[in-house]
Amino acid sequence: MEVKNIPFNKPYLTGKENHYIYQAVASGKISGDGTFTKKCHEFFEKKFGFKKCLLTTSCTDALEMAAILINIEAGDEVIMPSYTFVSTSNAFVLRGAKIIFADSDTLNPNLDVTKLEALITNKTKAIVPVHYAGIACNMDAIMELANKYNLFVIEDAAQAIDSYYTDKNGNTKPLGSIGHLSAFSFHETKNIMAGEGGMLVINDEQFMARAEVIREKGTNRSAFFRGEIDKYGWVDMGSSFLPSDIIAAFLFAQLENLENIQNKRKEIWNYYYKVLKSLEEKGYLKLPYLPDFASNNAHMFYVVCKNLEERQGLISALKKNNVLSVFHYLSLHKSPYYLSKHDGRELPYSDFYSDSLLRLPMYYELTNEDLILITKTIFEFYYS
Ligand SMILES: *Cc1c(COP(=O)(O)O)cnc(C)c1O
Repeated sequence: MEVKNIPFNKPYLTGKENHYIYQAVASGKISGDGTFTKKCHEFFEKKFGFKKCLLTTSCTDALEMAAILINIEAGDEVIMPSYTFVSTSNAFVLRGAKIIFADSDTLNPNLDVTKLEALITNKTKAIVPVHYAGIACNMDAIMELANKYNLFVIEDAAQAIDSYYTDKNGNTKPLGSIGHLSAFSFHETKNIMAGEGGMLVINDEQFMARAEVIREKGTNRSAFFRGEIDKYGWVDMGSSFLPSDIIAAFLFAQLENLENIQNKRKEIWNYYYKVLKSLEEKGYLKLPYLPDFASNNAHMFYVVCKNLEERQGLISALKKNNVLSVFHYLSLHKSPYYLSKHDGRELPYSDFYSDSLLRLPMYYELTNEDLILITKTIFEFYYS
C-alpha cells in the first residue's frame, strides 16, 4: 500500500492566482501600489473597517514600520510575550529598544494581562500583544493600561485575520482594529497567503501620512502619485516596505476566497476539537482555550501536553504514521540572543508552552481520512 505523508502545512491555491498575476504582468506596471495592491487595500478597509491599510513585504516589515512610526529610541522599553516569533521583538530591538518579556496566561499562550502593570516603568513606550493562534488577547485590559500610562499598542495580528474580539460593552471588533497600529502576515503558513507578504493597519490617524512616507523610502512619493504635490523628495527616514503588484495579485485571489477558506479551516478545527474533547475531559491533554471575548479563525489547532517528554512521545507516535506535527516558539527571554539582556525574571508559562504545546496538521486540503488517522493515533498514544 502506498504510504501517504500528512504534512503540517500545505499552501492552498484558489485557482485564480495565475490569472491575476498574468493580469498584473500584462498591465505593464508591476512595481508597488498598482491595481491589485489597491484592490487588496479596499478589500480590507471594506470587509474589516480598518481605517488605513498598507501592504508590506512581510509582517516583519509591518512591525518594523510600526516601531519607526512610534519613534522607538535607544532605551525605550517595549512589553511583549516571550512566547512569540522573533519578528515581534526584532522590530523594536533594531531601533534600540529594550524588550520586557511578559509571561503567558495559564489558560492559553496569550499575554497574562494581570501581570502587565507591574512591568510598566517611565521608559515603557508600547505593549505588543500577540493574538496567538488567532485567539484574541484581553484587549480591554491592555487598552486600559495603555490609556492610563500613555502607551502605544501594536497588535501582532500575524495569525489573526478574520478573527474578532468582543469588548466589555458587547461591541465585536476585528482583531487588528483595536491597537494604534497592527501587523498582519500573508506568509504561506497563514490562513490567507501570498508566499511572503504582510500588512500594516493604521487605526490612529496621527500615523497615516507618515506611514506612507516610511514605506516609500522616506519620500512623499505616494502623495505625488495622487497629484497632491508637484514633486517628491526625501522627507523622513524610511525603507522599501512595499510589495510588488505581482504579490498583491496573488493575495487578491486568496482574499476573494476568504469565506470559503475560513469555512473549510473551521470545519477541520471543529472536527479536531469535537473528537479530542474526551481526552481533555479525562485529563490527558489540553485543547485550545477561547475566552468568551474571542472568536475562532481556525488559524491553528494545537494541543497542550503535560510536559516535554509526553510531547516528544506524541510527535514520534504521529511520525510513525507519517503525520508531521510540530512544536512552536521557544521562550525568547531564554534565547541565545536575549538571555543576557533579559532581567532574569522567570516566565514559567512561556516555558511551559515552549515545552508542551504541539500543533497538528492544519490546511485546506486535509481530508476526513487524514483527520481520522491523526486523531486515532492520538487516542492510541494516550490509551496504550
Ligand atoms: C508569522 C508571524 C510573524 C512574521 O510574519 P512574516 O510575514 O513571516 O514576517 C510575526 N509574528 C507572528 C506572531 C507570526 O505568527
